[in-house]
Amino acid sequence: MQNILSIKNLSKEFKQKKDTLKVLDDVSFDVREGEIFGIMGQSGAGKSTLIRCLNVLEKPSNGSIILNDQNIVALKEGHLPKIRSQFGMIFQSFNLLNQRTVLKNVLLPLEITKNKNSDTKARALELLDLVGLSDKKDAYPKTLSGGQKQRAAIARALVNNPQILLCDEPTSALDTICSNSILRLLKHINKTFNITIIIITHDKIVAKEICDRVAILESGKIIEIREGHNV
Ligand code: ADP
Ligand code: MG
Repeated sequence: MQNILSIKNLSKEFKQKKDTLKVLDDVSFDVREGEIFGIMGQSGAGKSTLIRCLNVLEKPSNGSIILNDQNIVALKEGHLPKIRSQFGMIFQSFNLLNQRTVLKNVLLPLEITKNKNSDTKARALELLDLVGLSDKKDAYPKTLSGGQKQRAAIARALVNNPQILLCDEPTSALDTICSNSILRLLKHINKTFNITIIIITHDKIVAKEICDRVAILESGKIIEIREGHNV
């Protein structure tokens, strides 16, 4: 399998009043096209910072991230929106906008990237069907269960046809049954679209269930990369 993403010698420091906090320390790994790649580690290990660096939401202090033969860390700010649209992102807390319906939430990334194709609404409806929320398209987030909110967030993350889906603890706020059905959905999306998924979890069962490989992050360093079934 070809690499879709190569992370080389990545580090991230946050300047504080007196000293600097080194959150990522010389992190290097490759992600293969079409795989589900897990990142595990304790709270504070730097997982969220790492995943935010991958789509340059957070600017790394050092190192490179190669996506499609291009070091995206070196790009000027003006090129970043296009790069970021290659990544979909979902979070533990869903991050839906409460004053928008489910369909309007899913359409939001298209408004941001000014994608005015006439078939965008059809695409959004298709995705809502895929995640099992067709009947909730006109509902507001506050009327949805946690699992339904995450399904809406997944549809939203896919609407720009990203190459890579970044998931930051997507099932941590859900009960076991909901969590399992979201994991099955992610696996289904991975297989259906051959989309690469990078998923942060602190849960070994999640890692074992769906990840092809898992990187173990400890105090900002990758200490090991294992096969998912060996986690
Ligand atoms: P994890 O997701 O593994 O729990 P994070 O990446 O959220 O870890 O945080 C790792 C460390 O980086 C923590 O000590 C956190 O306080 C620090 N950190 C994260 N973001 C910032 C920031 N914007 N400014 C300063 N410190 C930060
Ligand atoms: Mg985190």
